[in-house]
Amino acid sequence: MTLQQPIVAPCGMNCALCQAYQGKGLACNGCGQGGERKACQNCSIRQCEHKTAFCFECAGYPCKRLKALDKRYRTRYHMSMLENLAFIQANGLEEFVRQQNEKYRCARCGKLRTVHQDHCLYCAQMDKAYR
Ligand SMILES: [Zn+2]
Repeated sequence: MTLQQPIVAPCGMNCALCQAYQGKGLACNGCGQGGERKACQNCSIRQCEHKTAFCFECAGYPCKRLKALDKRYRTRYHMSMLENLAFIQANGLEEFVRQQNEKYRCARCGKLRTVHQDHCLYCAQMDKAYR
C-alpha cells in the first residue's frame, strides 16, 4: 500500500482510520484539507481559535472540548485522542503513523481498518481484537 502524506488532525485523530476518509460513500480528504464533511467542518476542535498543529501545543491543553471528544471516542470507538496525542508528543508523528499502521492493519486484506466500524470497510472482516 502506498502511504499518502499522513493527515493527523490537531485532536490526534488519524484521518486514515476514519470511515469518511476511507471514502466509502462519505468522502472526506482529511482534516484541514478542504472539502471536509459537515460533521468535521462543525467540529469544535477544528473551529478552535488557537490553531496549533496539535492540541498539546496549546496553553489550554487538554481543554474541555478535547476531553469531551476523547471521552466520546473512548466510549464509542475504543480510541483515545489523549493517548494518541501523548504518543505523538513523546515519539513524533512518523512513529505514531507507523504504530497506527501496524495496530489497525486488517489481518485479512492488509488495508487499514476504520475505528468507526467493527469490520474492515474493504473486505468486511469482523475482528473484535481491534476494538
Ligand atoms: Zn480487510
